[in-house]
Amino acid sequence: MRFFIWLRERWDALDHSHNFTCDVCGREVFGGERICAACKKRLPYIRKFCPVCGRRVREEGVCAACKQRRPVPDAVRSCFLHEGDAARLVRTFKRGERWLAITFAEELAPILRAFPAADALIPVPMTARALKKRGFDQTLRLAKELSRLTGVPVVQAAVKQRETAAQKSLTRHEREKNLAGCFHIRLRKEVRGRAVVIIDDTYTTGATVDELASALRRAGAAAVYALTVTSVEDKFPFGKKDG
Ligand SMILES: [Zn+2]
Ligand SMILES: [Zn+2]
Repeated sequence: MRFFIWLRERWDALDHSHNFTCDVCGREVFGGERICAACKKRLPYIRKFCPVCGRRVREEGVCAACKQRRPVPDAVRSCFLHEGDAARLVRTFKRGERWLAITFAEELAPILRAFPAADALIPVPMTARALKKRGFDQTLRLAKELSRLTGVPVVQAAVKQRETAAQKSLTRHEREKNLAGCFHIRLRKEVRGRAVVIIDDTYTTGATVDELASALRRAGAAAVYALTVTSVEDKFPFGKKDG
């Protein structure tokens, strides 16, 4: 089974190593770039961000939400706002367009390199049942591509030991309750005293990343960061709307 997964990944990489069309708009590209210049300009890259949670801010400095309550990781960074073409790409990826992991990894690699040196990439895990349903593990796939570009190893230290309810309709408090204790950390030797980076597709309320970061801290991680493809802008920084 492992061999077939490996083969599939190498095939995808080979198949998509020479890009002839833009991954976003589908128009022809000539330099082999994955995203054409016009789309690069249009995509919602996060350029000005809170140094703690990495969410887009309008004014330099720590955002109002982090001043009230800091996320568990030492720092979180995301490449795009979760809207428009960026949100669509993430959805397409999760629906099974696995090769998009290569595109995302290319965008995330410079951000990862800007973190203090990391020892391991830890993908947010899914349960065996969820994996069977989706057919592939999207965060693992993303972490692997990122590892190929940066040389930081993937350590599958986290295991999701029970299914959690869909988070979408839950408030922040309900999300925390829903997630409490759902991650188990194995391979503790590779976590203890190390600087680790959690990899996920989207940073929404941050409840999942917080829960995993807490588990990694308890397992002795020296520093915990998180890196995601997209992040939702905090529209309710004063906690008016819980979620
Ligand atoms: Zn394009
Ligand atoms: Zn913040």
